[in-house]
Amino acid sequence: MRHSDTSWDERQKRLAEAKTLADFANLEPSDVGAFRKDHPDFFPAAWWDYRPTTLTKRPTLEKPTPKMQWEIVQQMVRDTWLRQFRLPPFWSTWLLTSVFDPEEMGWDEEHRPPFVTGLHVLDIDSYPYHEAVQWLVGQSWRVKQCEQCGKCFIAEASQRRFCSNDGDTSCFWAHRKAGRKNNADEVNKDRRNNYDPKARRRRYLRDKRRKA
Ligand SMILES: [Zn+2]
Repeated sequence: MRHSDTSWDERQKRLAEAKTLADFANLEPSDVGAFRKDHPDFFPAAWWDYRPTTLTKRPTLEKPTPKMQWEIVQQMVRDTWLRQFRLPPFWSTWLLTSVFDPEEMGWDEEHRPPFVTGLHVLDIDSYPYHEAVQWLVGQSWRVKQCEQCGKCFIAEASQRRFCSNDGDTSCFWAHRKAGRKNNADEVNKDRRNNYDPKARRRRYLRDKRRKA
C-alpha cells in the first residue's frame, strides 16, 4: 500500500469518527438505544449507565447528580461545538477524562467522580470518541452548525453551510425554498407600495410640479 493510501484511509476514519461525534451532540434521549446499536464501540458500554456523584468537600454528603454522565458530556461537546473546538486550556483534558470505563476504574459505589484524575488517567483506554475530540482540535473549519436546522455537523468542504445538501428533504433545499418565499414577499410588498393610491397621487402631483 502506498503511503498516500494509508493517509487517505486514516483521514476517512477520522472523518467518520468526527461525524459520529456530531451525531452524539445532536442525540435526543429517546435515540440513545439506536445510537448505541449503530456505534457500539464509540464509547465504553458501561459508561452509558454511569451517574456521577456531586462534588463536595465531605464525601459523606455526596449524592447522585440529576444528570447521567453521558448527558453531562453531551452538554460539554455541544458547548465545544459552538467554539469550533478552539478550546481554553484544560477544556480538552475534561473532555478526554470524562469518558472512561467505570468498571475498570475500581471506584466504590458511593464516590463516583465525573472525570478521572491522578495516575488513573494513565489507565483510561482510548476509544474512537477520544480520537475524534483530539482530531477536531486542529480542524475548526469543519466544525459547523447547520444554518437551516441548527444541528451540529462536520463539513467536508469549507463553504458548506448545511447538514444535508442533496434531495428535496435536505436543509440546503429547505433554505433555498424559504429564500425564494422571502424574495417573493419583498417583491409583493414593493408592488403594494407602488400601487398605494395616496403614494401614486403624491408622485403624480410631484411630477406635475416638476413639469410646471
Ligand atoms: Zn440541517
